[in-house]
Amino acid sequence: MKVYFKTFGCRTNLFDTQVMMSSLRDFTLTQNEEDADIVVVNSCTVTNGADGSVRNYINRLNRSGKKIYLTGCGAFTKGEDLFKTKKVIGVFGHSEKTKINELLKKEHFFVLGDLESVDKAIVSEFVGKSRAFIKIQEGCDFRCSYCIIPYVRGNARSMDEELILEQIRLLAANGFGEFIFTGTNVGSYGKDSGSSLAKLLKRVSLIRGVRRVRVGSIEPVQIDEEFKEILDEPWMAKHLHIALQHTSDRMLEFMNRRNRVAEDLPLFEEIASHGYAIGTDFIVGHPGESEEIFKEAVENIKKFPLTHIHLFTYSKRDGTPAATMKEPVRGDVAKGRYKVIKEIIEEKNRDFRMKKLPLQVLIESKKGDYYFGHDQFFNPVFVQSELDLEGNWIELYDYEVKKEGNFAKF
Ligand code: SF4
Repeated sequence: MKVYFKTFGCRTNLFDTQVMMSSLRDFTLTQNEEDADIVVVNSCTVTNGADGSVRNYINRLNRSGKKIYLTGCGAFTKGEDLFKTKKVIGVFGHSEKTKINELLKKEHFFVLGDLESVDKAIVSEFVGKSRAFIKIQEGCDFRCSYCIIPYVRGNARSMDEELILEQIRLLAANGFGEFIFTGTNVGSYGKDSGSSLAKLLKRVSLIRGVRRVRVGSIEPVQIDEEFKEILDEPWMAKHLHIALQHTSDRMLEFMNRRNRVAEDLPLFEEIASHGYAIGTDFIVGHPGESEEIFKEAVENIKKFPLTHIHLFTYSKRDGTPAATMKEPVRGDVAKGRYKVIKEIIEEKNRDFRMKKLPLQVLIESKKGDYYFGHDQFFNPVFVQSELDLEGNWIELYDYEVKKEGNFAKF
């Protein structure tokens, strides 16, 4: 029997798919959906739109007569419905994924399992020959108004520290130099195991071959004194992604966030003073974002030393507190606000790059005439060279600042 995996959503789901693939023994994997007898849908439920995409995919597959199993975050929100209406023949939750070899031999089951289990193996994903994503934790203890993740992924749990180190040692010995820590809420790493993100970072830095470490995304309230102490270490990528989500306190309160502007701004200024480029997440159009609140947010965000942004327009997710909040923001208004914030940060990014600091670049791939990589500030870099640079670290002292990135010859 041939099995095809269809993965929706984020990196955590991609990792879970890898775990499932490596747990299959009595089936053959196929990369071709049409060839498959069985399709495992690893679903995402982050917004109502994501639910819709999973449902459409399953409806389309139903016509092909294949056996369909559902797992992933959507199993917790839409699993029962899809199971009862016989759209899928089996549903299983994250904690059951390593049992997949046995599960796929059965039909008509619905096992969500628990939201406390921790993976026994550390999964990593490789980008080219030199960078690896390492999953260090799972779940989140925060309860932001718009987010369904804690309800479908559970509270924060850390992976075993010795296993993480073992995995990195192995990869570093095989030539990997840059490691990126990922998870649902990376900054909560160690809370449940007596460790911390800073402690883990320090231990990783001692591994031979480790050149640069990046932290996926961290919450402002998680940056403690211990973390600040490592800011100047040469192996810390000089880019941090710190999730603000908004820059108006009234809005942060509606969002049930733990950060407030009065602490965020000095924190960002302090980190920037150590030579960091800083990115953030920001949501426009969350219910309650009045014209006045947005104006206040704009005035505030202008003061922040930001260089990158992941900007989102609020999207309703049933089952979250925000879904029933009053004062929704019209779509066209939210779109306009998106543009305002985007332009502010684009200008800040350009100003930052115009400082022309020396760049340390890890070349990840070749795109057309250019070698492509990211510098220590997480800006894209395009390099022309006669040499074969893929997988190499280079230093650039002169480059041209363009909209798409920094351009140089080497
Ligand atoms: S910090 Fe907030 S937005 Fe992020 S996963 Fe946790 S609840 Fe969701």
